[in-house]
Amino acid sequence: MAQQKMSQRDAVKLLNDARTREVHLSDLTLRVSSRALPDKYLTAAFDVFHSHLRIPVDHESLDNIRTCRVIVYSILGLGSLRDTYFSQHIQQLRQCWPDLVNWSKALFRGRKYREDCKPLRSLYFAINRVFDTVAVVDLDLVDNDDIFHFAVELWKGDEEDALSPERYATGPLIACLSKNPAQVNSFCERSAYDPYLFVETILARFHAAIFTFSTRRTDSTSDLADLLRRIVACSVEPILQVILNSKTALPILSRGLNSLLDDAHQTGEHNFTVRCAFEVIATFIGTKASILPATLRAGLLRVLLAVAANRERYYQGELAIAVIQELQTSLVIKSVVSAAVTSMNKLASNADFDMIWMLHSMDPEFRSDWLRFETLLIENHVVFELIGHGYTEERGTCASCRKKCGRKELRKCAGCEINFYCSAACARDDWLRHRVDCKAAGKETERYSRAAHSRTSRRFATSQVNRFWPGIVALARRRKIPIEYLGVHLYHTAIPFKFDVFDCRKILIDEASPEILRKSSILALLTKETLRARVEEKDKSCIMLVIDTMWLSDVPYRVYLDEYLDDDAEMACSTRSTFCVTGDSAILYPMTRDSVEEVLSEFYALPNLDWRTIWRDKAFECLARRR
Ligand SMILES: [Zn+2]
Ligand SMILES: [Zn+2]
Repeated sequence: MAQQKMSQRDAVKLLNDARTREVHLSDLTLRVSSRALPDKYLTAAFDVFHSHLRIPVDHESLDNIRTCRVIVYSILGLGSLRDTYFSQHIQQLRQCWPDLVNWSKALFRGRKYREDCKPLRSLYFAINRVFDTVAVVDLDLVDNDDIFHFAVELWKGDEEDALSPERYATGPLIACLSKNPAQVNSFCERSAYDPYLFVETILARFHAAIFTFSTRRTDSTSDLADLLRRIVACSVEPILQVILNSKTALPILSRGLNSLLDDAHQTGEHNFTVRCAFEVIATFIGTKASILPATLRAGLLRVLLAVAANRERYYQGELAIAVIQELQTSLVIKSVVSAAVTSMNKLASNADFDMIWMLHSMDPEFRSDWLRFETLLIENHVVFELIGHGYTEERGTCASCRKKCGRKELRKCAGCEINFYCSAACARDDWLRHRVDCKAAGKETERYSRAAHSRTSRRFATSQVNRFWPGIVALARRRKIPIEYLGVHLYHTAIPFKFDVFDCRKILIDEASPEILRKSSILALLTKETLRARVEEKDKSCIMLVIDTMWLSDVPYRVYLDEYLDDDAEMACSTRSTFCVTGDSAILYPMTRDSVEEVLSEFYALPNLDWRTIWRDKAFECLARRR
């Protein structure tokens, strides 16, 4: 915003007049701010501003609205000199600091910012700016309890209008917390601030600064995002917990960043906001499956692509790679997949969104991760669509009469929630046999079912085992595990995903052999019931499956595979769907006769597929639905 420099004559006259006339003082503030005042007069300008702050703080001055205006113009002027000036003139900053603080407190506590006149409304802004400078130039000035408590007051702001960017200041708090991380750690105690309220306030103000007022307040969003980033980086325990348990934190940040990215002119404040808020999103994105769908719907993918494609602007290339990898491993949850498909559809329907440029600009490592994300997303969406139409039907066996039927015809044992029964009578009949195992497993059941939202759907995992079955059998043979004792370990933590096999007998012999799986009575019960069907009753379709995801490890299931499965079926080697790997790093391909395979090859054979048509028209979805 550098204006043409003023002439020497005009500058000298303005400096003189600004000592006595408010209108000229206001003009001087503007000229300093826009760099129109020649550098050699900056010290003279400092003297003018400081001279006004020497007016004693008393009732008479405070009641005089003209005096108050002159003071605020002077504070604004000092803030406009910025760190570029004061880092060369630290002594001057120290010299004016006590007067500046006294006046700031007096005006603030007298609520002069509520006056409806120009500079007084900007009181928070003026104080914020001065503290921004101090944070860069001399942190010792803010390193005391008195300033800290004033900073907390400024942060709390005006209780009558706590969300308006004109009624709170974040800069002073950031300055106070910059000196050392220990201050951040003790922040909540020292300020008697409730951590929950603290986080909620930051987020509500962030949202308001972007959406509520006629002009965007990116000066506020960049400070708020910076504050949030700092407290997260310092791992302030109670605050981390609040964000961790918040359903809205990441969606609010994503939605806000999306909206900022829409602005035609991207300023330094825009960039800094994106950079800080993205860091917070990246920290929490992998902590819970349940926050992902809403965060994706709020536009996370677009923010991620912007960060990845503009590495020199945001400096968060590595975090972008970490985020896309977390997202890949979360594509085993149905709600995540459908939110991501919706979000891709929205991007592809936006004619201004330039994916080709994005792909071209991003780091090659991110690009290959991104492309794999898209492939996995299509494939898993097809799987979930097919499941909705009866693919991999869920079945079970009554633990008492051994009737085999659809899952819906069976009810869970009320104690362990593991065994199934076709009727209350059957449950009663089996009780004597099942009692001891049920009580042991029941203790773990609560933890098991509480984690339900982070669990992969049983049917999705079963379909994966079905599709790769011949490869899994080959692996078991190589490891010399008899097929009737075969258990399958499926890792969704690996990308795309990984299979391993184990011998179920080992779990029962040495009470869950620790090198394979965590000891658990649910696991023991499931193994016992699986072997009963698989070995005693020769039901080859019943299998023990253990799943690891990003959020949970060693979650055991007993599932029923498709009955037609052929141990030696042909595998599709030239496939467009994802391969997977085994514990020995061998690659497995899905079977040729697999519905997912068929849909995908039909889809990729369609003419004129490009990025936009793939996601805008979603032909893969139609093909899966038609089956
Ligand atoms: Zn029964
Ligand atoms: Zn039970």
